[in-house]
Amino acid sequence: MSQPHFVANPMSRRDIRSYVFLIRNLFHVSDEENIDIFNLIEVGLSEAFEDFSYLIVPEHKMYEYALFLPELNELRIREDVYEAALNGNPRHRFTLAHEIGHVCLHRGIKRLARGGAPVSIPAFKDPEWQANEFAGELLAPTHLIGNLSQTEIMLKFNLSREAAKHRYNNSKK
Ligand SMILES: [Zn+2]
Repeated sequence: MSQPHFVANPMSRRDIRSYVFLIRNLFHVSDEENIDIFNLIEVGLSEAFEDFSYLIVPEHKMYEYALFLPELNELRIREDVYEAALNGNPRHRFTLAHEIGHVCLHRGIKRLARGGAPVSIPAFKDPEWQANEFAGELLAPTHLIGNLSQTEIMLKFNLSREAAKHRYNNSKK
């Protein structure tokens, strides 16, 4: 996991689960198995957060897959990543869901000063951990997982095998 650039407000797995449940309700996708993350980014987030903006950046101009700038409330997505997700690529659908997590949870949070001593922060305050939990819950919510197997989770929610395994284990906690 990369070094976080800011410390998030503490959130437990349970907090994130409840929050995503509300978000799915708000966007009228409570029981969707294969949610339209593009509609969420292009319409949902813009309606929910007035100052939110996103842009698609040409591949040669960006190193990261995607990047959320909390101080600007701006989401930048690399073009090839966006297109792969549009084509249903499970890994990049997760990338975008992860960024939606940052937008929902970390808007307006100040970044840590650059060049300071490396900080070690507990998972529940780590924005990357939070965004990953959010993404998993958004794509494959606990209430729809029920007693599905890992393979069923992978197929039903269009997740990578690794993400499906993580969701399987998480849903039991
Ligand atoms: Zn992140």
